[in-house]
Amino acid sequence: MKKQLEMLIELQKIDLAQEALRLDVDKRREKVEADSDLLQELEQTLDSQTASLNETKKLLENKRIELEEAKKGEEHANVKLNAVTNSRDYAALEREVENFKKMVTQVEGEIEQLQSAVAAGDETNAKHREEYEALFAEIEKSRKEVDEAAASIEDRVKALQDQSNEIAKGIKPQVLARYRFIRSKRPGAAVVSASGGTCTGCHMKLQPQAFIVLQRQNSLECCQNCQRIIYFDKDEAEALHNNHSNKS
Ligand SMILES: [Zn+2]
Repeated sequence: MKKQLEMLIELQKIDLAQEALRLDVDKRREKVEADSDLLQELEQTLDSQTASLNETKKLLENKRIELEEAKKGEEHANVKLNAVTNSRDYAALEREVENFKKMVTQVEGEIEQLQSAVAAGDETNAKHREEYEALFAEIEKSRKEVDEAAASIEDRVKALQDQSNEIAKGIKPQVLARYRFIRSKRPGAAVVSASGGTCTGCHMKLQPQAFIVLQRQNSLECCQNCQRIIYFDKDEAEALHNNHSNKS
């Protein structure tokens, strides 16, 4: 079993190296995907802002037309006022001129407000457009880099896989199956040292009886807590022991 465990540890070293290579590329790809989602959100915001800004611009155009009409109305009423001969018509036309004047002032105020709203909207839109374009460029660049990284590790991953397969040939099927099962459950180590009497995978102390059995190295032992395969290394145990003695 000692030999089997040694091979298993060797196998794990290779598998973990392969996993690390893959995880790095995966993590970078995840970041690109998250950024792409952000980009999409930004685009939606930009679209709705543009739509609402266009509404405001349209409203502004209408108000300008309204203003022209009010001014024309005022002018027209003034012409009529100058030509009037009786006092009753005069009073009515005077009111009419006053009303148009009020309307002109009111619409002018509205136009002023709309103009500043449009200016602010244009500014915000330009800022968001800039952000969008910067993020777009960044994503394009990152995506290219991730693709290149994925391509560049391909050979290395393949070589490690070949090595892993080669070592696996020497390991008993049931040992290998146990190892692969644990590996499939979670990333990271599936075979861990318990040379100090504690599982280094989950840091739980082994039962004294279980530790005695482990030290015999006759059987495949698993941590009762985390189910990882545990091994005992005599040299490591001695080193740990000495370290402890020195400290105390
Ligand atoms: Zn454990």
